[in-house]
Amino acid sequence: MVWQKLELIDSHCHLSYSPLREHLKEVLAASRVAGVRRIVVPMTSPREFGWFRTHLKLENLFFALGVHPSAIEKVDWPKVKDQILTLINQQPTKIIAIGEVGLDSTYPFSLDNQLTLFLKQVKLAKKLQLPLIIHNRGCRHLFHQLILEGTLQPPAVFHSFIGRPSWLEFLFKKGFHIGLGGLALGSSFNSQNWQLIKKWQERLLLETDAPFLLPPPLKGKEKYNQSANVKIIAEVIALKLGISLKELAKITTQNAVNFFQLNEN
Ligand SMILES: [Zn+2]
Repeated sequence: MVWQKLELIDSHCHLSYSPLREHLKEVLAASRVAGVRRIVVPMTSPREFGWFRTHLKLENLFFALGVHPSAIEKVDWPKVKDQILTLINQQPTKIIAIGEVGLDSTYPFSLDNQLTLFLKQVKLAKKLQLPLIIHNRGCRHLFHQLILEGTLQPPAVFHSFIGRPSWLEFLFKKGFHIGLGGLALGSSFNSQNWQLIKKWQERLLLETDAPFLLPPPLKGKEKYNQSANVKIIAEVIALKLGISLKELAKITTQNAVNFFQLNEN
């Protein structure tokens, strides 16, 4: 039997955010030790595109470009769109998605404005044939509507998914992926959710959303979340699904490779 090392992909990590950006070397070294072979770094604002340019050569990092609902103010979309198109032309193998984009009812920006910008980015992703990384907080009804009318289509991942089984099943049936991290490991995720995820496990991606959402087992022990913790997330999820860590790693890594169309190795 060939001994295979554990291989994980963190499908959502904000390495460009503080304090990860100041500790990048250590953070990447720790992730390698934990078996994290690839990390997807979503940009949330054009202000981060400079960081992207200086770090894009880092091996094992892949990027998504987009404007998050928290950054919609003062965004000159035609200009940002041109920037994104130019960057993708220059780096087609490193930019693997449009994101992080979405809708958030807790922000002090009008949902109409958020929706307008979101739909422009949905259109761009479709044109470029890239998957979307979606942020949703409190806007399930709007996404539901967009999916029903066919405006929002897969491939797209609802990252840091949290929600009722009926919403989860709807997304799976419509062909969407979900990203699970620290949020899902909290108590509100019930056994029905886990049964659905087991049934649709080919749509599951693992993520940390670091530096946010420290997984519950680490609360009080660590100051901030980081990519290496995707292993702890994987351990908890494997237990919930009743499969081995190795099996979960294999499934979710393959899922991420397929979803983001990454190279096999
Ligand atoms: Zn995020």
